[in-house]
Amino acid sequence: DSRRLAISASVRVIPHFPKPGIMFNDITTMLLCPGAFQAAIDLFVERYHRMNVSAVAGIEARGFIFAPSVALQIGAKFIPLGKPNRFPGEVISERYELEYGTDCLEMRVGAVQPGERVVIMDDLVATGGTLSAAILLVERAGADVIECACVIGLPKFKVSTIQGKPVFILIDPVS
Ligand code: IMP
Repeated sequence: DSRRLAISASVRVIPHFPKPGIMFNDITTMLLCPGAFQAAIDLFVERYHRMNVSAVAGIEARGFIFAPSVALQIGAKFIPLGKPNRFPGEVISERYELEYGTDCLEMRVGAVQPGERVVIMDDLVATGGTLSAAILLVERAGADVIECACVIGLPKFKVSTIQGKPVFILIDPVS
């Protein structure tokens, strides 16, 4: 539809970033097109406003661009999932494998209560490793992850799940 076309047209592709062979999809150019940015937020809000979502979690850093707006518009809370040492006080963390080495996501203890219905957001899903760690983190706190949502995703995630969770994707990667 026209809103998805506007989003695709506003995403910039940077070849060989951050390393050779990677076609990096850059959503920061979409943020300079208010119509496209608004279309992305609206598509997420239309999907989640009747799904009884109590929290929208965003993955640092680009998940933080989308999750708070969606959370406010559906009357849910926003939960940041951050890199290590972002949050003071007690946190739980989930370590996950990258191609080279490992990375880690953290969430403040008490951010989410058992039984809450959570959507997890990021800008892009590639292998699904990051979202997989985020799901495990939120569910260790006793909440239910009902879905993951990304602006951009490999087409395979439209038919496959991550940790058994559906993945809602607005557009395919731009090449
Ligand atoms: P995954 O864990 O392999 O699914 O990679 C997804 C994570 O890497 C997300 O947090 C993305 O922000 C980031 N990422 C990977 N490729 C790209 C890209 O082409 N553009 C923007 N972010 C990317």
